[in-house]
Amino acid sequence: MSTFLAILTLLFLPGPDWSECYEDTFCIEAEDVGNRVDVYVRSLVPWDFTMTLNMDLENMRPTEDLPLVDSYRGNSRTRAVSLSVRDIGRSWTFRFDLQWVNGDFRARHDEGVVYDLPFGSGVDYLVGQGAYGSLSHQGKYALDWDMPEGTPIRAARSGIVIEVQEGYTEGGIDPALRSRANFIKIRHSDGTIGHYVHLRHLGVEVDLGDRVFTGQLIGYSGNTGFSTGPHLHFEVFSATRELSRRTIPVRFRTASRGVTTLEEGHYYRR
Ligand SMILES: [Zn+2]
Repeated sequence: MSTFLAILTLLFLPGPDWSECYEDTFCIEAEDVGNRVDVYVRSLVPWDFTMTLNMDLENMRPTEDLPLVDSYRGNSRTRAVSLSVRDIGRSWTFRFDLQWVNGDFRARHDEGVVYDLPFGSGVDYLVGQGAYGSLSHQGKYALDWDMPEGTPIRAARSGIVIEVQEGYTEGGIDPALRSRANFIKIRHSDGTIGHYVHLRHLGVEVDLGDRVFTGQLIGYSGNTGFSTGPHLHFEVFSATRELSRRTIPVRFRTASRGVTTLEEGHYYRR
């Protein structure tokens, strides 16, 4: 699960309209409209996310089956569910908990897109581990290029920067380091996300919300997190209904082999 997965439990009691915001990403807003409460999700960011919303209701009937799984557009306000009071003469409450990840579980990858190799031209880099690689890519369409720390990393596809981490300093083959890699996530126009991982400490050159273009410098490679040596891990994925990720095979434009999917053990030049 993403590091941006959040779990929140709140108790809502009858009263004035109420709102609770989370991580500057979205707010849950409840409007008491008399014998009914409308629950809205208001996004504060320009990208989409997928949320599971569950509720514990007393004397209320929801308009949607619970738990409710849905994705929400960036910069939008959406009525997620309405709760009507069953017995108007009795008190009512609801409690909810939610989990969310960035990305739209309905996203479909645009198969017409060809990616650029995420580094500069003129040097060949080895794919040390390819899709479904046995070291750490089991079940994943992911690629590792071996490269020295500090190699400039360029966007493989344009998009919006939706998550960054550059605060970690260590790397190694200890699985405890799995969640301690520096990275950048870029949301593409089709709703899929490009993930660039193991960047060096303070190796991120873009900010949240930046629009980046294919070929733009976004950071510097490193060896942070769970890593056997200096390399760049790259994958394209979409969120799933289960708030996990589904990785996607993509094709690259290469100088040496034309447009192709990449194979472990081969060198490629941009
Ligand atoms: Zn990898």
